[in-house]
Amino acid sequence: MSASCEQVNNLMAVRSAIAAAELDGQRPQGAVTLVAVSKTHDADHIRPTLDAGQRVFGENRVQEAQGKWPALREAFPDIELHLIGPLQSNKAKEAVALFDVIETVDRPKIAQALAEEMAKQDRKPQCLVQINTGLEPQKAGIPPEDADLFITACKDLGLPVVGLMCIPPADQNPAPHFALLREIARRNDLSVLSMGMSGDYQTAVALGATHVRVGTAIFGSR
Ligand SMILES: *Cc1c(COP(=O)(O)O)cnc(C)c1O
Repeated sequence: MSASCEQVNNLMAVRSAIAAAELDGQRPQGAVTLVAVSKTHDADHIRPTLDAGQRVFGENRVQEAQGKWPALREAFPDIELHLIGPLQSNKAKEAVALFDVIETVDRPKIAQALAEEMAKQDRKPQCLVQINTGLEPQKAGIPPEDADLFITACKDLGLPVVGLMCIPPADQNPAPHFALLREIARRNDLSVLSMGMSGDYQTAVALGATHVRVGTAIFGSR
């Protein structure tokens, strides 16, 4: 089998595993959107998954995404691009122009910069607030106890906040983190839950993820 088919086989396997987890968790079939995380991989490596029908992708760097996605979008106009990495306020302009969903709204300065850019460009990518469920100092995100206030502040700025995102601590059982994210979303009336990566996406589906962000299990190691 040619090397270029490997990521397509992986993609199909991840799709099947998501469908099985939906069934197990009594979630409706198709309830979960697969965000294929293509960071560090070049367009040639991504393209077979586009040919196989994948349309939702995640990138963690604005500049890297700018380099590869405009050309791919010409060939596949219905691509949906998610920003899943930390955003600097001096990149808000580019992020608003390129991404359809910004999953990493994580501090007031970024919320403000995004609101200003959205008004300027008359373009409104959906926003998720990143929650630092494990209170890890090295990780981005709003502490759970500050989430309600921050979400309200974002909405007051006019940001289209539709949900939450988290990255649980690597060395812990992710389940309580996913459950906490779901609870914060529930009480803030938010419908989108982006949680679960290659190692734990089935658990995330069981706990209510609407989006899972899977890189390594599709595209291989980075
Ligand atoms: C890289 C990354 C992923 C994908 O991680 P894998 O373990 O490769 O599936 C998901 N979410 C975020 C925020 C990432 O940076």
